[in-house]
Amino acid sequence: MVGASSDPRSTLRAVFIDVDDTLYDFAASVTASMAHVRERYRDSLGHVSVADLETLYNETSNSATKEEKLALLAQSPWKYRRFLWEGVLERLEARGTPPKNPPRDLAGGIAEAFATFRFSTLREYAYPGALEALTAASLRYRVGIITNGPPQLQRAKIHALGIHTLVEPHLVFVSGEFGEDKPSPNLFHAAAKAADVEPHHCAMVGDNLECDIGSRAVGMYTILFHTKPHEPAILDCKHPPHHVARSWREVREHLDF
Ligand SMILES: [Mg+2]
Repeated sequence: MVGASSDPRSTLRAVFIDVDDTLYDFAASVTASMAHVRERYRDSLGHVSVADLETLYNETSNSATKEEKLALLAQSPWKYRRFLWEGVLERLEARGTPPKNPPRDLAGGIAEAFATFRFSTLREYAYPGALEALTAASLRYRVGIITNGPPQLQRAKIHALGIHTLVEPHLVFVSGEFGEDKPSPNLFHAAAKAADVEPHHCAMVGDNLECDIGSRAVGMYTILFHTKPHEPAILDCKHPPHHVARSWREVREHLDF
């Protein structure tokens, strides 16, 4: 049970939760999707490794500015993904392993297959107990989502995970819609206001020391969700988390839901 009245947890009324790497394993879902398209397009891609595909994909992503990527996303998520896969194919060509007998619009085909696989399997990469925790939390707290990223991508993940049915729609905050990213105090204040409580009556659960745990600056109770084997670098933090949880079971025990 949450302890005495001096314990800040005793006055919590809302819990906000991050998405990427808090509700599901981002890297594992991307790697599985890369492996899927590599198998499906093996005749064209040859013997490129999944790790190499990921490297080339990330290189392409890093070659564009945030504004350029947002402009593509605004046209359509498919165009954005097609741009990324075109970059992968160009880089394969540049290193002397061009696609073999590529079908028409190979990049577009891979982009489609990648996204379809990723979103249709995303729930498989949810951390144990994460989705159940949302339901359990809502019996005791107002429950919301605060996620950084463009709405075209973050909303797709929220739907793929099925969490839009588990939380109140007006408590879902996507930074690309709000206009400011975590750890913007304005974003955390807006979330608390939507839940009709003060920030110090809110908990924020997330994996990122800066973006999520930065909510401590506005008075939120912070839980670092940390599944990595190394210790989190909380000693260097201006705003260290109130608590570090290594599983959703621990989050539930700590917030007593
Ligand atoms: Mg995250």
